[in-house]
Amino acid sequence: MSNYIWNTQVDVLVVGSGFAGLTAAIEAAQAGCSVQVVEKRDFYGGNSWISGGVLAAVDLEMQQRYGIQDSTAQMFDDMMRAGRARNDPALVQQVCAQSYSVLQWLRQELGITFMERIEQFGGHSVPRCYSVTDIQGRNIVNPLLARAQALGVDLRLNTRLTGILQNEKQRVVGCELMAKDNTVQCVQTTRALILASGGFSGEADELQPATSSTRLTDATSDILNLAQQFGAELIDLDCVQLLPCASPDEPGRGVAPVFASYVVFPYGMMLDVATGLRFVNEWTDRKTRADAMLALQQPAVGLTDQNGINNAGDMIHQHMNDTVIHRFEDLATLAVAYQFPADALKNSVHTYNQYVEQQHDAAFGKPIPARAKPLAPPYYALRLWPKTHSTMGGLRINAHTQVLNCEGQVIPGLFAAGEVIGGVHGVSRLGGCAITECLVLGRVAGQQAALFPKL
Ligand SMILES: Cc1cc2nc3c(=O)[nH]c(=O)nc-3n(C[C@H](O)[C@H](O)[C@H](O)COP(=O)(O)OP(=O)(O)OC[C@H]3O[C@@H](n4cnc5c(N)ncnc54)[C@H](O)[C@@H]3O)c2cc1C
Repeated sequence: MSNYIWNTQVDVLVVGSGFAGLTAAIEAAQAGCSVQVVEKRDFYGGNSWISGGVLAAVDLEMQQRYGIQDSTAQMFDDMMRAGRARNDPALVQQVCAQSYSVLQWLRQELGITFMERIEQFGGHSVPRCYSVTDIQGRNIVNPLLARAQALGVDLRLNTRLTGILQNEKQRVVGCELMAKDNTVQCVQTTRALILASGGFSGEADELQPATSSTRLTDATSDILNLAQQFGAELIDLDCVQLLPCASPDEPGRGVAPVFASYVVFPYGMMLDVATGLRFVNEWTDRKTRADAMLALQQPAVGLTDQNGINNAGDMIHQHMNDTVIHRFEDLATLAVAYQFPADALKNSVHTYNQYVEQQHDAAFGKPIPARAKPLAPPYYALRLWPKTHSTMGGLRINAHTQVLNCEGQVIPGLFAAGEVIGGVHGVSRLGGCAITECLVLGRVAGQQAALFPKL
């Protein structure tokens, strides 16, 4: 028998208060468990709080209203293609198959509102991304928090997981928590411990050549190190996502990602300043775009026009500022501002406009949206350069979200979901798929933890 001295006891303890942790907590509490959520920071929500709150799902009813044909098999194919088939097919299948039910759960059970539009983000073969009101992840986090509180979940800030405790049969039976004043408590977890502690993008800068990042700096790998110490397998740690729609002219995430994703990439183009030429399909997966941008060795320029801005709708004005996005009355002025070869720039716009008229991008195969029009003055432009965004590697789990050891065996009593796991996205995550994954697998983790035999 293990002889830990427990300070308290709870059925399920969840580490992390982002999308994955809060959903897991809600499900476990709904199943009748006593649940505690611990959060190391002094605010809830982690990177989920600062995210855009855009999620990918197959919602056939809404998609058909917009004339979009889709299926979970098509979403699965898109995710596997972007991930270069390094993804775990069983997890991808689960995320795709439950994408609709989780979107409906947010809408109907939690009353979360999404904008009446469907976006197509890079690498998705059709529009299937739904933007929460104001494109702010906190508009999903807050209702999740409120639901968890209403269900009696014990939520603790400034409380860090520092140790995982097992019995002689390797079952996880509890954990060590450290408060801000460095006092340590041992909590017995009579059913399960769920790791939902997010990614390690705060430490990923040294793994890649981007110069800045969009995430919170203390998104670290301490939980991965802890789990590895007693045999948990870590996978795909080399897979770090660089966001190819960020700007070097502002710190952090800034306004560029929304402006580029909703305006420039669908209704404009991205150009190499040295040649004045397009160099990649602006609408392909993030890794392909980021790699192509890094190969230029200097920021690219995104170019769009008033029609693109109008198509994005009124909300886009909250995501524009004139230190990053500049307006030009003609191409000659734009060429001078960014030091483009002027004739090459003019030719690129002319050629691209022909593709728009033909509804076919003969150079790179970018899908041309129905509302696209040939680019015309005034033009809007911004500099673009990839920034570290999120991580795709982490703990290996099975379809029940149980953490596996290096022999592929379950570590009893230990579950994980969200950015702390690896396997869902392979080498390149498609936009919107992180939130879907966190919510789908967070729910599974909460349900499975509640079913796990009590000590
Ligand atoms: C700026 C930005 C925008 C994004 N926008 C989108 C988007 O629109 N759509 C999309 O699909 N994806 C988006 N992503 C990615 C997505 O938001 C994240 O992958 C997702 O929010 C991760 O959720 P999570 O619950 O796994 O982790 P997090 O939300 O990071 O939460 C984990 C929590 O665990 C806590 N924690 C860590 N270690 C410990 C410990 N030892 N003890 C206690 N607590 C601990 C952390 O403090 C954190 O609060 C975005 C990411 C960023 C950075």
